[in-house]
Amino acid sequence: MFDADRRLLVWNKRYLEIFGLETHHLHVGMSQRQIIEILVDLERYKSGTTVDALSEGTRTSLIEGQATSILRELADGRTVSATHRAMSGGGWVATFEDVTERRRNEDRITYMARHDALTDLPNRVALHEIGNAMLGQRMAGRSLAVLCLDLDRFKPVNDGFGHATGDRLLRCVAQRLQRQVRDGAIVARMGGDEFVVMHRVKALADAEALARRLIAAASAPFDFDGLRIEIGMSAGIVLSGKDDGDVTQLLQNADLALYQAKSDGRGTYRVFEPQMDESARARLNLERELRDALTNGCFEVHYQPLVDLSSNHVMGLEALVRWRHAEHGLVSPAVFIPIAEEIGLIVQLGEWVLRKACQDAVRWPRHVRVAVNVSAHQLRQRNFTTMVLSALSESGLDPKRLELEITESVLLDDSDANLETLHALRGGGVRIAMDDFGTGYSSISYLRRFPFDKIKIDRSFVREIGEKPEAVAIIRAIIGLGQSLNMTTLVEGIETDLQRSAVLAEGANEMQGFLFSPPRPASEIDALFRADHARNEAA
Ligand code: C2E
Ligand code: MG
Ligand code: MG
Repeated sequence: MFDADRRLLVWNKRYLEIFGLETHHLHVGMSQRQIIEILVDLERYKSGTTVDALSEGTRTSLIEGQATSILRELADGRTVSATHRAMSGGGWVATFEDVTERRRNEDRITYMARHDALTDLPNRVALHEIGNAMLGQRMAGRSLAVLCLDLDRFKPVNDGFGHATGDRLLRCVAQRLQRQVRDGAIVARMGGDEFVVMHRVKALADAEALARRLIAAASAPFDFDGLRIEIGMSAGIVLSGKDDGDVTQLLQNADLALYQAKSDGRGTYRVFEPQMDESARARLNLERELRDALTNGCFEVHYQPLVDLSSNHVMGLEALVRWRHAEHGLVSPAVFIPIAEEIGLIVQLGEWVLRKACQDAVRWPRHVRVAVNVSAHQLRQRNFTTMVLSALSESGLDPKRLELEITESVLLDDSDANLETLHALRGGGVRIAMDDFGTGYSSISYLRRFPFDKIKIDRSFVREIGEKPEAVAIIRAIIGLGQSLNMTTLVEGIETDLQRSAVLAEGANEMQGFLFSPPRPASEIDALFRADHARNEAA
C-alpha cells in the first residue's frame, strides 16, 4: 500500500515471494520508483524492461481506472498481473498475482483453437486469418498462390490399415509438404486429407512448379516399419489478383480447380479458370435435381429382355433405371448413376429400383426372372441383405426369380465383407451375375473367388465381331470358361443377326440387345410376353 506521496506503507510476505525479495530489500517510506529500481537491478523482469516503462505502466493504470491490471513478464518466464486500486484521500493498493499457469492454459487454448491437433499445422480458422493478413500485405511483383491439396486413395489406406496408420500417414504428409515451402509460406490442414498451401510467387509458373513438387513429395512411398504405402495427391491452384481482399473466394476457386484435377484423373494439378465455376454450379444443380427426382417420383424402371439364344424365348428382364427430366427428357443412367454413387444417393435409388422391379416381376410369367443392377456402395451397406429379403417378401417374389448384377468394382474394395454378403444372398436362393465381364482389370480372377450363376460378356467385344478376329476368339474363351465353371453365359449388346449367329455358334446361352428389343417401359412388357407366347405357340 502506498500513500498519497507514493511512499510504501505496508506489504506482505507473499509479495516478497512473488518477486524473490528479501526482507531487507524493503522498508517503510520507500518510493515506488525505488522498489522498481531494486527489482530491475536484481534482474527480476524480462530483460530489456526499464524502470521508466514500469512506473509509467503503474501511472497509466491508476489514471485509467479504479482497478486496472497490467501483465508483467518476469525473467524466469512467469507472468505476474499487477492491479492498482486508488484509495480515497490519495495513495493506492497494488495487488500482485502470479498468473503464469492461467496464462499458459489460455495460450494453450488459443493455440489449440488455431492448430490441428494431429499434424500441429495451422487449421482452417488460422488459415483464414493468416491468409487475409498475407493478402493485406501486398508485395510488388508478387502474387499470393493458393493451392488446395487433397490426397488420392487415402480412404482405402485408412480403412485397410487402420486409423493409427492413417494418422501417421497424415503427419508424414504434413512434414513433407512443409519441407517444400519457404519461410513465410503457410501449410495448413483443412481436415480429413485436405491441405492448403499459401505461398508468394512471381508468376503462375512458380505456383505450378510448387504444385508439382508438393505432389511428388506426397507421392513418394512411405515405409512404416516395413509396411510400404503409396498414395497420390491432386492440387488446385489460384493466384490472387488486384481485387482479392478476402481469402475465402480464393480458397473456393482453388477448390474448384482441385475438383477438376480430381476428375481429370488425379495425381495432377489444375489452375482455376472462371468456367470451372459455371460447370461446378451446373453440377451442383444436377445433384440437387437428382435428389429431388427421387422424392418427386421422377425415376422410371425400363426392362430389357434377356433371351435364350437357341429358343429365342425371354428368360428374364433386366431392370434399367431412367430419369424423366422436365427439360432434358429421358436421361440415361450412364449419366446420373455415377453422380448418384458419388453423392451417396445410389443407396436409396438402388433400393427403390429393386423394390419396383420385384413388384413388377411378380406379375410376369413364373419362369421369367428379373435382373437388377447393384452398385458397390449398396452392397457395402450393412443392411443390404435384409433390404433385399424385405423387397422379396413384401412383393411376394420367389428369390429364385431375382438375379443381382454386380460389376468388378464390388469385389475390388472391402471384398471379404462383400463376398460374405453375396454368399448370404446366394444361400437364400438369389442368383448373382457378373456384369460387363472383361472390361475390368482382373475379371478372371474374380471368377475364382465367387461361384457366379451368370457371366454377362461386355458388349465391347461384340461390337468388334466381323472386324477383328480376336473379338470372337475372346468371346469363345470366356464362353468356354463359363461352361467349365457351370456359369450361364450371356452376351450383351447384340444388334445384328451376324452377331447373334456368331455367339450362338460359340455356344453362348443367352443374349441381350437391340436386335431383340431395347429396354422398354413396364407398360409395354405385357405385349412383349404376348408376342413371345405367340412365337412359342407357332413353334
Ligand atoms: P448394364 O447393366 O450393362 O446395362 C446394359 C446397358 O446396355 C443398358 O444401358 C442397355 O440399354 C444397353 N444396351 C442393351 N442392348 C444394347 C445394344 O444392343 N446396343 C447398345 N449400344 N446398347 C445396349 P443403360 O440402360 O443406358 O444403362 C447403362 C448402365 O447403367 C447399365 O449397364 C448399368 O451399369 C447402369 N444402370 C442402369 N440401371 C441401374 C440401376 O438401377 N442401378 C445401378 N446401380 N446401375 C444401373
Ligand atoms: Mg446390368
Ligand atoms: Mg452390362
